[in-house]
Amino acid sequence: PAEDIINFSPGPTSLPKDVETKIAAIFNTTGLTSLALSHRAPEFQAILDHAIAAARKVMAIPDDYEVLFTHGGGHGQFAALPLNLCHNASDVATYVVNGTWSVRGRDEAQRYCQVETIDGRDPETGDYTYFPELTEDNIDVNSKYVYLCSNETVNGIELHRLPKLPESRRHIPLVVDASSDFSTKPIDWHGCNVGVLFACASKNIGHPGVTMTVVRKDLLGEDKASPLCPGVFNYTTNSEAGNLWNTPATFNIEVIGHVMDWIEQVGGVDEIERRCIAKAKAIYDVIDESNGFYGSPVPDTTLRSRMNVPFNVKGGDEELTNAFLIESWNVGLIGLRTLTPFGVGDYLRASLYNGVSVDDANKLADFMRHFAKEHS
Ligand code: PMP
Repeated sequence: PAEDIINFSPGPTSLPKDVETKIAAIFNTTGLTSLALSHRAPEFQAILDHAIAAARKVMAIPDDYEVLFTHGGGHGQFAALPLNLCHNASDVATYVVNGTWSVRGRDEAQRYCQVETIDGRDPETGDYTYFPELTEDNIDVNSKYVYLCSNETVNGIELHRLPKLPESRRHIPLVVDASSDFSTKPIDWHGCNVGVLFACASKNIGHPGVTMTVVRKDLLGEDKASPLCPGVFNYTTNSEAGNLWNTPATFNIEVIGHVMDWIEQVGGVDEIERRCIAKAKAIYDVIDESNGFYGSPVPDTTLRSRMNVPFNVKGGDEELTNAFLIESWNVGLIGLRTLTPFGVGDYLRASLYNGVSVDDANKLADFMRHFAKEHS
């Protein structure tokens, strides 16, 4: 039965049970819901206002930031960022590249501005396994922004706190792809000089089809964006229109509101972080105590992602890996291997977003221990 399945998918994925119950109620309503209301109806305006207010409260988003619900997912923002923050194609942006998603973000930006890369590959193996140091020397002082991905979903590398740029570079706004870790830890918006932070919804905060993009208001203005920036991507246009320049993803916005309410009800972002630490510890402990039966690709334990735990079985042994997947699937633990073009070697991946409870993570840990014992 469906309720016995635990979904460890890297996204899209399941939401917390209480939120899924609320969503089911939307579908069972006979009156008009966010699925059928005009986006200009006062009833939808209330839903939109609520989602923004709840997100502001939960994530302590200061008043000098605008909350936008943007189109085109994370990839939309890969393009929207340089188009909004670089007026000219000759403007420079610095990209920290330490995994598949920052590669994607950097490559897209290269079409619209001059990109400088801080390369996060391990010089010996060429793999993305760490986060490079940010120094005066590797950040161009004229950068319009410094971009980083706070959780590399595929590589399993997470910054548990955003970095502060070196003193002489503190004036440069930080741009953060928080697609796979937003809402799971506090953000020091002003202290880290965050200019823009975006999160595609389909991991921790909702369903695909909407992206939450938080923009500091001083970066808005008619003269700021490239003249080539499409209206649908233009932060200023969408902010001035109160998120209603064109039809927003009405239902998906309502869902984000419900997830934010759920976070508030369970004790706020600090409680979510506590749970994320516990969930990740449950799995990493099994890996570390398995005498090499399970392996992690991230050597620096301080950078290990709490969201996505990549692991292999006996160094990637195909037969054992398949046995692991079949046996785990048979007991309802699903989503541990996805057919992604960005796979990292033979690694499986347990994603521990808001839809996975501490109990759920413990169930996977118990299964992993049991499997190792049976097959060692
Ligand atoms: N950034 C990160 C960190 C992601 O994990 C993803 C999706 N897996 C994306 C960007 C891309 O998002 P989308 O598929 O919505 O374009």
